[in-house]
Amino acid sequence: MRLRNIPGSREAIAASRWCIQEPEKAKGSWRDIFGNGNPIHIEIGMGKGQFLMRLAEKNPHINYIGIEKYSSVLLRALQKMEEAPLENICFIRMDAEDLCLAFAQGEVNRIYLNFSDPWPKDRHAKRRLTSRQFFSRYHVILEKDGIVEFKTDNEALFDFSLDEAAAAGWRLDGVTRDLHHDAGMNEGNVMTEYEERFSALGNPIHKLVASRSGDIPMAPERG
Ligand code: SAM
Repeated sequence: MRLRNIPGSREAIAASRWCIQEPEKAKGSWRDIFGNGNPIHIEIGMGKGQFLMRLAEKNPHINYIGIEKYSSVLLRALQKMEEAPLENICFIRMDAEDLCLAFAQGEVNRIYLNFSDPWPKDRHAKRRLTSRQFFSRYHVILEKDGIVEFKTDNEALFDFSLDEAAAAGWRLDGVTRDLHHDAGMNEGNVMTEYEERFSALGNPIHKLVASRSGDIPMAPERG
């Protein structure tokens, strides 16, 4: 994601009704914020939010929360929401490292990771959203039967993610290295902005779906 600081983006986010300002205060009560008991699906690193907004439109009985680290990127999603408001979606500007501060144990039903930053240097591996460190955070906030869905066109990151999911004790329920030509896994697929861009270049899209296979020790709140 090319980042350009947009003056006023922080202020716009602070004033937006779609953004939750102090997510740690919502921990354990996200369903109250939505005013219903519907499942909660989150996307981490949602970028400009196309994927999540399309899902929210298709599935009014699911609550969606988009998490994005950078104000300038999140601002684009907020602008789209002003044009076409949806009641079952909200956003948090937050680094995903703090996930366990914002969500209670088992509060989330599904996690989407789409075209996550690859962090190619080995010394940055734990920053990848599919590292074992992140899988242990997902283990805390996901309900028992919850799943993680990950898409990317980056083969090295995908290989790493398969290894890390297994090392973290997760089970792989679905794996494809060419999503758009895999009728089963592609059924109902909603394209992200990056997915549209990279598949138009001819890059095959990889996808994995992971769930818990058994007892996995709980992770600390942070780190
Ligand atoms: N998911 C979108 C898509 O598929 O079109 C955007 C993909 S973009 C390559 C990755 C996004 O993840 C960027 O907007 C980046 O700012 C965000 N991101 C990266 N690391 C993050 C983190 N630790 N916490 C929250 N957002 C993060």
